[in-house]
Amino acid sequence: MALHLTRTQFDQMIAQAREEAPNECCGLLLGTGDTVIEVLRARNKAGELRQPRDPRRHYHVDDEAQLTALRLEREQGWEIVAIYHSHPATPALPSATDRALALWQTPRYVIISLADPAHADVRAFRITDRMDGNGTVAVDEHRQPIRDVTEEDVVVT
Ligand SMILES: [Zn+2]
Repeated sequence: MALHLTRTQFDQMIAQAREEAPNECCGLLLGTGDTVIEVLRARNKAGELRQPRDPRRHYHVDDEAQLTALRLEREQGWEIVAIYHSHPATPALPSATDRALALWQTPRYVIISLADPAHADVRAFRITDRMDGNGTVAVDEHRQPIRDVTEEDVVVT
C-alpha cells in the first residue's frame, strides 16, 4: 500500500508547514482509495481547546475542515485518505501523543518534518489498535490501547 499524490499537493502541505511554523500545521487529504484528489487545509486549534495545548507540539483539526470533509464525502463520494500535520522541529515519526490520539477508523497519518529546514521529510503511517488473540484491543499496563505503527510509501507523481 502507498499514498499517491501529485507534486503540487505534496508541495502545498510543505508550504503550509513552513508558513505556520513554529506551530504545527494540519489538514485532511481527501480522495478515493490511496489517491489524493484534494488537500483540505485546516486550522490548528490545539491552543484554543477547553484544555489548551501548545500548538508547537500538538495539533487539532478545526471543526470547519471536518464539516467540509463530510460535505465533500457526501457530494463527491470522496473519503478522508489521510490526516496530515507537521513536526516543526522533530523527525517525521508519530509521537507518543500521535499514537495515543490516533483513531482506529482513520486510514493514514502523514507527517511533514521541518527538522532539516532545507529538506522537508514527508512520511505516511497507519496507526492501528493491536488486537489480542480473542479479538479485543490489547492494552498496556496502564490499560491504554497498544497501537502498532506501519510506514507506507508516499508516491509523488
Ligand atoms: Zn505529531
